[in-house]
Amino acid sequence: MNKANILLIYTGGTIGMITDYDTGALKAFNFEELLEHVPELKLLDHHIQTVSFAHPIDSSDMRPCHYDQMVELIEKNYAYYDGFVILHGSDTMAYTASALSFMLENLTKPVILTGSQLPIGDLRTDAKENLITAIQIAGWQRAGEPVIKEVGLYFEYKLYRGNRCTKINSENFEAFTSPNLPPLIVSGVTLKINQEALRGVFRQGQFSVRKHLNGNVVILRLFPGIQETTVKAILNIENLEGVILETYGTGNASTQSWFIQSLKEAIASGIYVVNVSQCLGGSVMMGRYETSTELKSIGVISGKDLTVEAAVTKMMYLLCCNLPAAVFKRRFETAIRGEMG
Ligand code: ASP
Repeated sequence: MNKANILLIYTGGTIGMITDYDTGALKAFNFEELLEHVPELKLLDHHIQTVSFAHPIDSSDMRPCHYDQMVELIEKNYAYYDGFVILHGSDTMAYTASALSFMLENLTKPVILTGSQLPIGDLRTDAKENLITAIQIAGWQRAGEPVIKEVGLYFEYKLYRGNRCTKINSENFEAFTSPNLPPLIVSGVTLKINQEALRGVFRQGQFSVRKHLNGNVVILRLFPGIQETTVKAILNIENLEGVILETYGTGNASTQSWFIQSLKEAIASGIYVVNVSQCLGGSVMMGRYETSTELKSIGVISGKDLTVEAAVTKMMYLLCCNLPAAVFKRRFETAIRGEMG
């Protein structure tokens, strides 16, 4: 591997936490101390510079304004570094990875998010392997070209496409999965790349960034017996612009007339409604069953095999792009960063 310049961005999360002696709860601690716990970093054949959020946070506190902070750091340093590693709490890491994949347009360098289930100071920590391999992947080049040119999430020996994964376990070291796309890289004795999985990221033009995601969105998860008043209250939220509708199976939902009528009215008022499945694997196929035919005919957008994390952040992103309705729908139903099949 060639010597690469890596910018390591610390945002918070378990990886850098210590136990508060008064409360027993985990809290964020100083970044410099975190680095002291990994003397191995000095052995890596890369130049590593570090920068930390002024106030590191638990990722449950992560908001689009924090995405802006990360994007700004990458934008400002883009020309000077070969790759970026972001240390982040695992709870909302899949949302951030998805959001960044959309916000960093025409990205041609690796941006790898990682974190850990146990703090880096813990004897049994998973943090060291995650951090060290994430840095190696961010610095990995072949013939002067980065091997990874997109936003990835590295956890427990696997690099996933950032907008394809989801947190599935709060306890196991294997906390993430990518239900509809195999890992981009699997780390064993060697790092094994899946060339096939690397396809599908659309690039056209120079690297640029889009900030200030539109937060006027909501996730509406259906369940048998959901009340009309509940659905109507959600669809009538002031300033609402986008709804991620979590349906059953291949995108099926109740055929009750109040339900279809409420969605129809929302769409007529200019709200975008996207259909994603509550199933982890597989894709929405509107029209396959009668229970999704009407959704299709009233203009519900197919979220295909998007994760909820990718759907909500793609919605926030596309809402910022000022697109005519037909283009918005087409763009949503087409992979722009390899986020859907
Ligand atoms: N609550 C932590 C966070 O997301 C959990 C973790 O880092 O794994 O910041």
